[in-house]
Amino acid sequence: MRAFAAVALLLAATAASAAPARPLVGAYDAATVTSLCNDGIARARDSFARMEARQGGAGFFDEWNRLQIEIEDVVNPIYLVGSVHPDKAVRDAADPCLTKYTTLSTELFQSERLFARVKATKPANARQAKLRKDLVEGFEDSGVALPPDRRKRAKEIFDRLEELRQAFDKSVRDDPTTVVMAPAEMEGMPEAYVKAQKKDERGNYVLRLDYPAYFPFLTNARSEEARRRYWIAKQNEGGAENLKRMDEIFLLRKELASLYGLPSFAHYSLRRKMVETPETVTKFLAEVKAAVSGVEKKELEELRAEKARETGKPLAETTLRRWDVQYYQERVRSARYSVDQEGLRKYFPTGKAVAFALELSQALYGVRFAERKVPAWHEDVRYFDVTDAKTGAFLSGFYLDLFPREGKYNHAAAFPVRGVSLRARRTPLSVLVANFNRVGLDQDEMETLLHEFGHVLHGVLSRTDYVTHAGTSTPGDFVEAPSQMFEEWGRREQPLALLARVCPECPRLAPDEIARLEAARQYGQGIKYSRQWLYAAFDMSLSLDPKPSMEVWKGLEAGTPLGHVEGTMFPAAFSHIASHYAAGYYGYMWSQVLALDMLSKFSKDMLDPKVGRFYRDTILAQGGQVEPADMVGKFLGRKPSSEAFFREITGRR
Ligand SMILES: [Zn+2]
Repeated sequence: MRAFAAVALLLAATAASAAPARPLVGAYDAATVTSLCNDGIARARDSFARMEARQGGAGFFDEWNRLQIEIEDVVNPIYLVGSVHPDKAVRDAADPCLTKYTTLSTELFQSERLFARVKATKPANARQAKLRKDLVEGFEDSGVALPPDRRKRAKEIFDRLEELRQAFDKSVRDDPTTVVMAPAEMEGMPEAYVKAQKKDERGNYVLRLDYPAYFPFLTNARSEEARRRYWIAKQNEGGAENLKRMDEIFLLRKELASLYGLPSFAHYSLRRKMVETPETVTKFLAEVKAAVSGVEKKELEELRAEKARETGKPLAETTLRRWDVQYYQERVRSARYSVDQEGLRKYFPTGKAVAFALELSQALYGVRFAERKVPAWHEDVRYFDVTDAKTGAFLSGFYLDLFPREGKYNHAAAFPVRGVSLRARRTPLSVLVANFNRVGLDQDEMETLLHEFGHVLHGVLSRTDYVTHAGTSTPGDFVEAPSQMFEEWGRREQPLALLARVCPECPRLAPDEIARLEAARQYGQGIKYSRQWLYAAFDMSLSLDPKPSMEVWKGLEAGTPLGHVEGTMFPAAFSHIASHYAAGYYGYMWSQVLALDMLSKFSKDMLDPKVGRFYRDTILAQGGQVEPADMVGKFLGRKPSSEAFFREITGRR
């Protein structure tokens, strides 16, 4: 998942044999979802009961691994279809299954018998020692060591949080809001965009809130009034009920922490992350704010001057509004760097841009991808086998589901449907879900493609012993690092040259055009990171001390140069913190510190297969079985540094 404003969630979740595994996610109907779920959960409960009947630590790690596999084979594909299936009945059938799974998962982690067995295990190697530590923490965090009344309350809280998360996401996903634009209000929009939009019987355009419709409009539409209406509609996505849900979610999290005698949910959550304490996050966020505030002010002044120039009004009478930012940023960018985002689509035809991402990964990581026809949930969906280039061994598979549809998950995300386990000879499977323009990608979309494919690679190239540690099962403040790092390959001349290999007929970007694109991207870092700071500060504020979310948001947003716009409720669609990114949104920036630092190893040659292979082995393959700080230290050969990050966010790269 991408950070919010930029574009788009890596979603938490995670039969095998050495032969190419059958792709798991076929065509589902609502009745199949329900019966697969009920049968699967019943089987998992039987296994759970058998594990509880045994004693001692012997064999526990493998038993645990089998149980996790049993559960994820049922739940993860259902989680996926709940987000992407074209049939609403199927999507709706998924939610009750996820509720049953949350209940089972809490019961598992609250089982005193299993906890006693975990504690009795004697790890034979570092991977088992890490698994033991993670399991002990997982059991403790679910309340197994609490007195019975508190344990019961913890379970109620977990169940209720899952219900609220589902309802929150559903309100965003199924938000029926449309914005009607008169033909004149489409002025500035590219012809292809206008053609792709639905019209009503009066000849007006009916725009939905999905990104491929929304972002280009805010970037290009000349009418300020039209941009204002669309922006306000988007800021109300999710609806007022979601604000109530968010308030309840944060109060419940605070109560959960208090069951453990911890002062806040931030303390409860962060002790399991790289940063360990709220103080580290607070200090980091203060540094970010100090670094970007001046840059933001300067950039906003430039946009205001551009608005004055375009509207022909004196500067003193010109106010820059939130719905102006993207539009004037684009004007300044295209004037200063001659970059035309819409024009870029012909350089990156969507199918070829995907082929480029695949080619790049093959060159860098020593793998081969082969497309295969397999059944899927929609005709747009493609599937690829992944093999090792040197040995030819089958490693994994992934699906690509790239285009918007009604009712489909409307951000971009990688779904780790099946986690790897070498112990179980189980190969992984991931799904990239996005909402791209069908014709071609712009700069943001290219970044999103590489970002999400970075998550997919983390899933499908991981080689962990246990499924609990597979791929992206790392602490939340590290998990974005591999995907953020991979974005860089779409910005440099050397890797972009591979585009010609997969698309000889595509026009080629000249070196100075690539340099200008990069300069244009770096323009606006102050605005971008101030917004990221705001989201992270909002999350930390609610996680440390829950108050009505709209009040907190208004207060924080009012303190920014563009202020709060009455009648808007951004938090109602902030799914990240209604789900597991809570007390973790800072993690996007924390991960980026590591991403940009790791990138330094590729500074001489972005396509060096030796560095690529070392990265695949030390980072991607290790998933969560090694502490992030140790992995990164091994890859870099030194301690991580935040220098590259601070250069990036202040546009001084
Ligand atoms: Zn992500």
